[in-house]
Amino acid sequence: MQIPTARWQQLLSSAISDPAELIRLLELPVELVESARRAAEQFPLRVPMPFIERMRKGDLQDPLLKQVLPLDAELQPVPGFVTDPLAEMQNNPHDGLIHKYRGRVLLITTSACAINCRYCFRRHFPYQENRLGPDQWQRILDYIAADDSIHEVLFSGGDPLAAPDGRIARMLNELAAIAHLRRVRFHSRLPVVIPQRITDQLIAALTGTRLKPILVLHANHANEIDAVLSEALQPLRQARVPVLNQAVLLKGVNDSVEALKTLSETLFDAGVLPYYLFVLDPVAGSAHFDVSDDQARKLFDQLQRQLPGYLVPKLAREIPGEPSKTLLI
Ligand code: SF4
Repeated sequence: MQIPTARWQQLLSSAISDPAELIRLLELPVELVESARRAAEQFPLRVPMPFIERMRKGDLQDPLLKQVLPLDAELQPVPGFVTDPLAEMQNNPHDGLIHKYRGRVLLITTSACAINCRYCFRRHFPYQENRLGPDQWQRILDYIAADDSIHEVLFSGGDPLAAPDGRIARMLNELAAIAHLRRVRFHSRLPVVIPQRITDQLIAALTGTRLKPILVLHANHANEIDAVLSEALQPLRQARVPVLNQAVLLKGVNDSVEALKTLSETLFDAGVLPYYLFVLDPVAGSAHFDVSDDQARKLFDQLQRQLPGYLVPKLAREIPGEPSKTLLI
């Protein structure tokens, strides 16, 4: 019997990838098309309709648009901005597996993302060399089983929730057979950009083994969290799946106290706790999003003065070779 395509899969496969189409839908100047196409040749445009529907028409300063619109500025080389800013390829014991920190490993579950964020630190990642076929998966299971210091598996990508629910359930069942594992963590932007991704089947998969699941979302601006997303997250709360958020501090998107404060408060209203606020990883093509460390610290200081502690995310950066994230304050 053929399994019907879920609504989220339809929205995923119909994501907009032609800059001219995005510019037309948002009633933006057609002169932008040429430069957007040039930049998209290096890192394609990809943005699903439910996310576009949260953007303001005719507004080039829209904070959601800025995260996805390819720009000429991406093509200018900037010293210090490189293709593998976190040196992940040096911590890649097997295809599809990154082991940087003690106690946890990260799976490159899929190469697919629902959205291509222009600042993404993996925009140059060699996904083709990190495909998780059956052989690689078995090698990864063996690697985790052989190291009893590993207690947590992080599903990353690409976006791990781009994988079908059945595949996620199978992977979790196989991981649950490894006695020293305790937790599984999914880092995903997919529910933010396509809230329909939170299905009953997904929740059943996440909660269907003895492993404690955690979902870490990625939203950078309060406008990303609308009523549809808040409602979609409710069943996760009912299933007692902790939901956290990590954001990236981005010039022109959320580099103001007001934007960061509203983000934290809106997340909390939707049942999501702010977890990390990362400064930008210096990936080639993203320098125009950079906020200086001084400015980041000033913003954070003001945020701390205006919000209760549980609404203040940790301000951090990832430094290659360090045993954990490095706090800026
Ligand atoms: S969803 Fe995450 S992995 Fe995918 S492009 Fe955006 S930041 Fe990168």
